[in-house]
Amino acid sequence: MPLCVAFDCDGVLADSISSWKTIHDHFGTDSKDMLQQFMAGKMTDAEFMAADIALWKEVSPKIHRDDIFRAFSGCKLMKGAKEIVADLKAAGVHVAIVSAGVDIYVQSIAAMVKADDWIANGFEFDDDGWLLDEGVVRVPSMEKYTSIHKLLGILECPPERLVCVGDSSMDLSMYVDGSTFIGFNPQRDSAKKAFADAGIPVVNSNDLADLRPYLGL
Ligand SMILES: [Mg+2]
Repeated sequence: MPLCVAFDCDGVLADSISSWKTIHDHFGTDSKDMLQQFMAGKMTDAEFMAADIALWKEVSPKIHRDDIFRAFSGCKLMKGAKEIVADLKAAGVHVAIVSAGVDIYVQSIAAMVKADDWIANGFEFDDDGWLLDEGVVRVPSMEKYTSIHKLLGILECPPERLVCVGDSSMDLSMYVDGSTFIGFNPQRDSAKKAFADAGIPVVNSNDLADLRPYLGL
């Protein structure tokens, strides 16, 4: 039995491709070109977030926190999310969410599944709730191990007792020496290939119940 399970959010506990894409869809914008540059290492997380915000502000110069909440109103949990988190917690396992997605959204997912802990990237707003131009990077999307190391330190959990679950190639950066990584429902070809190359177990299903045997449930 693991002592800690760290889930990615988008595409794992949440049934959405990307919380960033959800906001782009809301404003009718598209960050595909930037994503390619980012994946090629030509852009930092902070630059990518500021560029995303700039695109939205081209469409809507003043964006309120409530607008961001509204963008996420149609989002749902992945099938089996509440149940698997509840059963892990009942077995004494610490359940964390480590996401490079949007904090407002990840926080609401964490509350819905009753996770012990969550960390994500996000936004800053002025005192009246208007979105500022720069984002806040807490989880570098290609160096998610930085958050994992912090988590293990706080919990005094040896890496051997940690299981990470992710759906994208970037989630492989959650891996730290000695830990276990499980791929869940990879959609992008880049994820399928990265998981195959890494030789990790992959659950090809969109029902988190199928992950249970890998977590000792
Ligand atoms: Mg994901």
